[in-house]
Amino acid sequence: DPQSIILGDAFLRNARYFRDKTAFIDSDGACTHGQFADRVIRLINALSRLGIARQGRLAVLSANSRTMIEIAGAAELGGFIVLPLNHRLAAAELSAICLDAQPGVLFYQSAFAETAARIAEETGTPAIRIDGEAGEAIAGAPGYEALLRAETSAQLARQASADDGVHLVYTSGTTGRPKGVLLGQRGQVEMTRTMAASGGIRAGTRLLLVMPLFHVGGKSQQLCCTWHGGTVIVRPRFSAAQWFDLIQAHRVTVAHLAPVMIRSVLDEPERGHDLSSLETISYGSSPIPQRDLARAVERFGPIFIQYYGMTETGPLNTMLDKEFHQLSGRPEGDARLGSAGYPHIGGRIEIRDAEGRACPDGTAGEVYIDTPTLMIGYWNRELGRADPVPRGWFATGDVGYVGRDDALLYLIDRKKDMIVSGGENIYSREVEEALHAHPAVREAAVVGVPDEHWGETVAAYVVFREGAAATAEELVAHCRLRLAGYKKPRHIYVVDSLPRLAATGKIDKKRLRARHWGPEGRFVA
Ligand code: ATP
Ligand code: MG
Repeated sequence: DPQSIILGDAFLRNARYFRDKTAFIDSDGACTHGQFADRVIRLINALSRLGIARQGRLAVLSANSRTMIEIAGAAELGGFIVLPLNHRLAAAELSAICLDAQPGVLFYQSAFAETAARIAEETGTPAIRIDGEAGEAIAGAPGYEALLRAETSAQLARQASADDGVHLVYTSGTTGRPKGVLLGQRGQVEMTRTMAASGGIRAGTRLLLVMPLFHVGGKSQQLCCTWHGGTVIVRPRFSAAQWFDLIQAHRVTVAHLAPVMIRSVLDEPERGHDLSSLETISYGSSPIPQRDLARAVERFGPIFIQYYGMTETGPLNTMLDKEFHQLSGRPEGDARLGSAGYPHIGGRIEIRDAEGRACPDGTAGEVYIDTPTLMIGYWNRELGRADPVPRGWFATGDVGYVGRDDALLYLIDRKKDMIVSGGENIYSREVEEALHAHPAVREAAVVGVPDEHWGETVAAYVVFREGAAATAEELVAHCRLRLAGYKKPRHIYVVDSLPRLAATGKIDKKRLRARHWGPEGRFVA
């Protein structure tokens, strides 16, 4: 029955047919699909013995590692819910998340021992160290390896059902407090099949994973690769210089990068690496400056796939396939490269105005998505489970339009980043693109700041390229050639770097706005 398939089914199949094939490689070593399934089963049995209930939450505070994938594996096969924590957050923020999600256990890497101890204390969660000699626990429970060793049975104590929740992922917190999103087995199985197919992932795939596993971007990549019995090269963090070495050393076929990482990779000098194994580079999670995309295609060829997604939609919204990237480099340019593409099979998009009416093609409004990968719902602490969202149209909070001629989705801005100045809507991303086109500008972020006359007005934070600079007048004049007068920046702040969310490199506009509006931010309707 296709409706009863769970993510963990792939582990058992891989253990049978790819037993001795490498499943994961991290800095500590490698494991085969056979070993992976064996360890996941023993972990499930150990957790059951520890009294973690069905759908009990397993919090993980770790950089990308094989063990982190194993713990998620226990949820994917054994019916628990994994709660991957963003280790870049402060202990107080993580405690708030744990008080919300109420995990039955907290697994942590020793690098985060101090934070883990604080969370354990503040939330009363038993903690288990997953690395180091014995993998000791804080609260008297046996360490991770000891737990696994104590389990001798290869018989699964408990198996997930397709109706289960499986991943409890907190959103990036770009626009407010992170929200707990419960993704279910059925939606994630659908995601895995669809995304693996569209991304050309198969048994021979060798995926380089540098995106964090606590974010849907990294997790979905790993799931697709593991689903087909491929090999994942797991890295704890991204380094542009190392990226080339890893591609060459591991004959990597698929890599996923956030736009800010693509820029760093492009800034690396050519060192004659053999990148011939590379079939696909996917990107997404924030807008990519068009100039960077053109440079990337020039350097690596049209092997790019763009994904537009969000935690809530598990994360598939739309994609832009390689064939569109072949349009890059045309002298006249091609606007389609600036789109976020089209929905996946089984998904639909619709643009709606403020009154909720469908907009005709070519007219901007909020993007709504209908997808079979939609979350079960936002986590509700009072219920101790997710508050189910009705299936159907989901409001993304992103503004865009559907192309009149090509039916592609063009994203314009986030609703909350839009600037309303004197009654006119100004899209921050449009102003940023104009600034990116200036040769001295390395990156730019545009936010609305208070203005007595206009309500709010456009401010641009600009980082110059090394050795380059421009005056504010030059930048404004440059924007005026490309934008209507009311959209031009009224304030320009030159800075050394932009504040970013560490996980995905999203620009932290909340923080930029707070400098002008105070910590509460501006009122957002
Ligand atoms: P929060 O919901 O907590 O404010 P967030 O929306 O950044 O944070 P995510 O679910 O990680 O959390 O990100 C989804 C958002 O990222 C989308 O709504 C969209 O604004 C942006 N995004 C994702 N992919 C793309 C893309 N390819 N192009 C442009 N923007 C993208
Ligand atoms: Mg969001």
